[in-house]
Parts: sequence; C-alpha cells; structure tokens
Amino acid sequence: MAGVTFEGVTKQFGEHTAVNGLDLEIQDGELLVLLGPSGCGKTTALRMVAGLETPSAGHLRIGNEVVNDVDPKDRDVAMVFQSYALYPHLSVGRNIEFPLRQRKVPKEQRSERVAKAAATLGLDQLLDRKPGQLSGGQRQRVALARAIVRSPKVFLMDEPLSNLDATLRVQTRSDIVALQHQLGVTTLYVTHDQVEAMTMGDRIAVLHDGLLQQVAPPQDLYDRPANTFVAGFLGSPGMNLVGAQVEGGTLRSSGIDLGSAPPSLPGGSVTLGVRPEATALAPDGLPARVVLVEVLGAEVHVICETAAQERVVVRQSHYLPRPSLGASVSIELSLAGANYFNAIDGNRIEI
Ligand code: ATP
Repeated sequence: MAGVTFEGVTKQFGEHTAVNGLDLEIQDGELLVLLGPSGCGKTTALRMVAGLETPSAGHLRIGNEVVNDVDPKDRDVAMVFQSYALYPHLSVGRNIEFPLRQRKVPKEQRSERVAKAAATLGLDQLLDRKPGQLSGGQRQRVALARAIVRSPKVFLMDEPLSNLDATLRVQTRSDIVALQHQLGVTTLYVTHDQVEAMTMGDRIAVLHDGLLQQVAPPQDLYDRPANTFVAGFLGSPGMNLVGAQVEGGTLRSSGIDLGSAPPSLPGGSVTLGVRPEATALAPDGLPARVVLVEVLGAEVHVICETAAQERVVVRQSHYLPRPSLGASVSIELSLAGANYFNAIDGNRIEI
C-alpha cells in the first residue's frame, strides 16, 4: 500500500486551467474525499492519479515513486466509476476476474480471489448472472468487487453512488466505508455531494475553480471553514453569511446590536458566519422577511431576506410555530461558535 502525493500539480486544457498548483497528501490507508461543485477539477485530479491525464506541471507520487510518466497499467490503482463500466457480455464472475486475467494470474489463484471478493460484497449467489440481470446497486457492488480483487495500492472512486436511488446510496456509502476500513487501501473518492463527503471521508479536500480551498477532517471543515466559499458550500443549507461591523467591542448589522464581538476581532467590516442551526426567530434580532418555508418533516427551514438583501436560513424544529410567507420576522444569530471572515477576500479571521 502507499499514499498519494500531489506536489504543485497543474493540468491545463488549452487556455483553461482545470487543476491549479495542487498540493495534497493522501496518507497511506486514508479515505480522502475530493469535494467541490461541477467543473472544479475533481475528476481531472483523479484521472491524473489513474494515468488517464498527464500533469502539465508538478509531480504526482504514489508511495515514493513519481508516476507522471508511468503507464496507467503499471500504477497498481483500481478505479470505480459512476457508470460501473462492466462488460455486458461477461458474467459477474468473469467481470470480477477480468483484472486478474489481464495480469495473467494463475487459474487456481483467480478462482480463490474472485470467490473472496464476491463473498466480501455479498455477490456469491450472483456469479453466473450477466450485468443486465442485476439491479443498479448490485452492479455497483460488482464494480467494487472487481476493484478489490487484485488488492491494488490505491482505489480511485469517481461519484460511484450517483446512479443509485436515495436509500441504496445511503446503504452503499456505509458499505464502501466499511470495506475501505477492512482493506485499509488508500482511497481517493470524488463527489460533489457534501453529505457523502461528510459521512465518508477521513478528511475532505474542497476544490473550487481548480484551486484547493481547504483540507481537514469533516467536523473541522464544518466548524472552522477556511473561507466563505467552504462555509457556504458545506452544510445543507450552507452557513449564513451576514455583513457586520465591529464598533467599540460590539457587533452590529443593519443598525442592530448582535452582541459582543470577540476581543481579538479587529474593528471595521467583517462577514459573520452563523450556521442555520444557530439561529432562531426571536424578538430584537435582525429584521427580515420570510421568502420561503421548507418543511422537511423533523425540521423546517425558514428562508428569509434581510434589509441588506442577504439570505438567512433559520433551521427550526417542526413543532415551533411557522411564520407565513412574506411575514416580517426578527432573527437571533447565536454568536457562540460563530465564524468571522474578512469582508474583502472572504478568508477566515482566526480569533
Ligand atoms: P463534474 O462534477 O461536473 O464532473 P469536475 O469537478 O469533476 O466536474 P472536471 O471534469 O475535472 O470537473 O473538469 C474541470 C474543468 O476542466 C471543467 O471546466 C471542464 O470543462 C474542463 N475539462 C475537463 N476535461 C477536459 C478536456 N479533456 N478538454 C478540455 N477541457 C476539459
């Protein structure tokens, strides 16, 4: 097994920079999630590790070896795609066996390893079926069995759950985590789904426009985002971001006193970040108007707009009274655990 290291890795497609000077180390045995919106460069980064794209600059290492010029088949990585990429004319057993045949593994070893991989993923009873006779979830498990059958150094997974329905996605995501822990294989997992990232990753690396924004364990990322992009992207809904002023030790927004500012916070304009669960509809808060009420069963999201036309989401329990659309409300923002960002560049201010 081995870690994977990006050292100043850039990928240009003509004028377009898909990945920009990426420095990132995935530890041996770690499950690292690459997270970001569509087009941020996640798949390109993954494909460079697989050898399907060549870096325009920088070094990519698997273990200690620089692999920039190593052929994909000699990298000892296994990839699992959203589309499963199974051979429709081959049985499940033959699909799983495929990478072993390619590497000319002797027959007895092949049968033993296919049986073990199939058993690990609960596919023992399906070995003679063709992929067309399987459900989406079963197909994805065949793709996973094919990835683990030859014990690669690194797993690369590109949105492997996107084609599954919501229930199966939750089930398969815990299966993948359990499998990865059991095998201890270094895994780079690409997704744009932040719930998947939060629940699966040992650490999450957030990309935006080809640039790494932050890499940290999920809870750290949620509690202490490096900038307003990460704050708004992570969480469902994301963090509320409100313009505020620090005046004489007090934090004010739209002329309203929000409470005491942390003593180390410099005076002047800041962007205040408060999670929707740290807000409430209460008297004497920030005045706003209700623009949408989303009922999710256990909780309700009251989406409001302030006088400064900032969107603030209040997450409240379903048993609390709900305001009607268009109502004037007042929002209390809890400053315990709040984040502060530079009003100009959006970077987090350490307090
Ligand atoms: P998605 O979640 O939509 O797959 P992504 O974050 O994986 O997005 P990439 O597929 O890595 O994004 O693409 C990053 C950028 O590079 C995009 O703007 C894309 O259009 C561009 N790009 C990717 N592959 C190529 C290519 N072969 N030629 C030109 N541009 C490309």
